[in-house]
Amino acid sequence: MINVEHLYKSFGKNEVLKDISIEIKQGEVVSVIGPSGSGKSTFLRCINLLETPTEGNITVASVDLTDKKTNVTKAREKIGMVFQHFHLFPHLTVLENLTYAPLKVKRISRAEAEEKGLALLERVGLSDKQDAYPSSLSGGQKQRVAIARALAMEPDLMLFDEPTSALDPEMVKEVLDVMKDLAESGMTMLVVTHEMGFAREVADRVIFLDQGLLIEEGEPHTFFNNPQSDRAKDFLDKIL
Ligand code: ADP
Ligand code: MG
Repeated sequence: MINVEHLYKSFGKNEVLKDISIEIKQGEVVSVIGPSGSGKSTFLRCINLLETPTEGNITVASVDLTDKKTNVTKAREKIGMVFQHFHLFPHLTVLENLTYAPLKVKRISRAEAEEKGLALLERVGLSDKQDAYPSSLSGGQKQRVAIARALAMEPDLMLFDEPTSALDPEMVKEVLDVMKDLAESGMTMLVVTHEMGFAREVADRVIFLDQGLLIEEGEPHTFFNNPQSDRAKDFLDKIL
């Protein structure tokens, strides 16, 4: 589903990603962990070309995103992204948030978009909020709407950048539960998270970044119980 080969990204002289290569299979759930500033967000943003790689190749669902001939806008429609701070459209209702892009981009009928939107709201447990505005929702509800909105475009792949970091503690679980359901439904997911419980229980694989380098990757059980590198050991010592 994703193939990253020798990815480098610099901002001016600051080399933020250094020779990252990784392959992610369809249906795989991969957690990206690492200290603040290690390049996790930049890595995710390169995968949907919110950032342009300095060097290297990225292929998503057999489309080479780094080929100049590729229609990036089209390719990006297949990649859902969920951010720490929700980014809902404040002037649209919950259901309108979900139907906006499908109506504009996929050009399906309003009836079909609303039917799909309502089914997604049910899936994230927010059927009763279809006419609410984002400002009236809790953080956990906003994030579940953001997930449903990304799913409304029927992506091949979902990217999550610290989706629970801005939430009050009591709202973390409702969002992780939605993500867990999504993982179980077979969605390919790349999740930057500090929720080690999620990484342990839901992820098929963990990758550990530090200072722009992919230091270690492996099965969660192995990574958490027996990290190989000193950097991963130090990191885990600090957070666990
Ligand atoms: P993480 O998500 O792991 O905390 P980031 O990918 O956000 O790390 O940042 C990695 C490094 O890249 C940091 O040094 C940050 O300052 C730098 N960086 C990120 N985005 C930009 C940008 N748009 N312009 C300049 N520097 C950036
Ligand atoms: Mg980040």
